[in-house]
Amino acid sequence: MWDVVVVGGGPVGLFLATELRLAGASVVVLERLERPDPDKDEGDRGVQARTLQTLRLRGLLGDVLRRAGAAEGPVYADFSGPPGEDAPDDLRTLAEQWSTQRLKGHLAFLPLLDEDDGLADVPAQAAVWQGHLERVLEERALALGAEIRRGRQVTDVREDGDAVVATLADGEQVRGAYLVGCDGGHSRVRRACGFDFPGDEAAMLALLATPELTDPAALTPGIHRTPTGLMFVEPPPGQIVTVEFGVPQADRRTPVTREEFEASLRRVSGIDVEVTGLSKATRVTDHARQVTTYRQGRVLLAGDAAHVHSPMGGQGLNLGLQDAANLGWKLGLVVAGRAPETLLDTYTAERHPVGATVLRNTKAQSALLRPDPHSNALRDLVAELIERPQAKRHLVEMLTGIGLRVPHTSSHPLGGRFVPVALGGTDNLGDLLADGHGLLLDLTGDRKAAIEAEGWRDRVRVSHARPAGLDDGPHALLVRPDGYIAWGAEDGDVTGLRETLTQWFGPALTGA
Ligand SMILES: Cc1cc2nc3c(=O)[nH]c(=O)nc-3n(C[C@H](O)[C@H](O)[C@H](O)COP(=O)(O)OP(=O)(O)OC[C@H]3O[C@@H](n4cnc5c(N)ncnc54)[C@H](O)[C@@H]3O)c2cc1C
Repeated sequence: MWDVVVVGGGPVGLFLATELRLAGASVVVLERLERPDPDKDEGDRGVQARTLQTLRLRGLLGDVLRRAGAAEGPVYADFSGPPGEDAPDDLRTLAEQWSTQRLKGHLAFLPLLDEDDGLADVPAQAAVWQGHLERVLEERALALGAEIRRGRQVTDVREDGDAVVATLADGEQVRGAYLVGCDGGHSRVRRACGFDFPGDEAAMLALLATPELTDPAALTPGIHRTPTGLMFVEPPPGQIVTVEFGVPQADRRTPVTREEFEASLRRVSGIDVEVTGLSKATRVTDHARQVTTYRQGRVLLAGDAAHVHSPMGGQGLNLGLQDAANLGWKLGLVVAGRAPETLLDTYTAERHPVGATVLRNTKAQSALLRPDPHSNALRDLVAELIERPQAKRHLVEMLTGIGLRVPHTSSHPLGGRFVPVALGGTDNLGDLLADGHGLLLDLTGDRKAAIEAEGWRDRVRVSHARPAGLDDGPHALLVRPDGYIAWGAEDGDVTGLRETLTQWFGPALTGA
């Protein structure tokens, strides 16, 4: 029997497998596809500041940027307005700033720019090709000893005493102590286990395709807000995306026909373009749904299986990878018998609110992109507010994940926050967390924090080296394996340290 069965070998399932292996759990990933989906290689994804920091923590960032990094596509490099008009200022600014590291994100394409107003500390987002990212993660998972079985479609999941059993399409059964559904927005695991998945119907429909046009020059490359929607045009023979609101919806898996795409393109562009052929066509909506709990007994969900929403703001992949970073070490400690099962309840407690915030802001972004006069007025108002540094900071922290604080017992100002990890360089805390252990940073001089933590030496590494980014002082910090600071003291007082160690890492070794 496996410690953990992961259903779905997308980015979230693969990253979770690496985290579980670091925690020492035996892991099998069951992936429906025989081989990676080649279309994913062509999907570039915005990777936000917090995810970049997490990848840095695990020594994956260099590999990801080198092998999966995408130059910003022509869509972002060449804005122009709707046919015959100039681009609105907000879109032009976005284009100019995208590659300058000053763009920290956007809200419905309203740019969140660092204008020397307090955003210099936030790493600019990177773009990666999703398919390449998955390959990097798959290689790491294999190198760490995860087993990845392709061509295995899970059709049913049932708890059976102390185990959970996944049944495959060919009738084979795979048993694990726990099972995590990372099987995407249409999750079979979610449905088989009856997770509640409430939310809102879609208001937006985006059609993505690479069309053949009789007159490609009729459409100007760029992002265009038009009186009827939104349109992204890459130079021929690139991708075109139409976005409309309040139009009839079909199931996301329903194929997009040439006629449907042509009609949408005509409505949005206002031009009688003729589409003669279509490839790589798909539909995306802004359905917003989230499970009410991320765990039912021995079954957990992560990534799109737990939450679906529109891709506006580039958050879904980031959200899912952060779910995996939160869950992996906790589940690892529980299957190893080191921590009680109740530790898993903190997974829903910490991640559900973050997912709910993403659902809320993506719905707000749909509202800000509608082309009607009331929505335009709202957009103008929000654009004004964004110019205020505090409002801008609030949105950047939300969209990049860097504002997140986890529960902590700490008098230290960094309590609950992510460790101060620089993306580059070697002299930083990131290097001390690469193996997925917890970290106690003891700069108290008399090493009393380290003495307190002796009973957790199998789970928590101790370091006395002062890392870059921490001021002088007798700091003591307890860092969870996912990089969040669970406890800290600026004055060397170790009150509460043992309780916090027990809370996150389970009881001390006997005799310690
Ligand atoms: C157009 C578009 C643009 C986007 N842009 C961004 C962006 O810029 N930034 C961002 O953060 N996010 C973005 N996203 C969202 C992001 O792509 C997803 O959130 C991410 O892929 C979710 O990863 P996942 O591993 O949870 O699910 P998936 O990527 O869907 O992977 C699920 C895996 O499970 C497998 N599977 C499914 N069912 C079964 C089964 N029954 N048995 C076995 N295996 C199964 C599938 O084959 C697949 O490999 C975008 C999405 C779209 C559509």
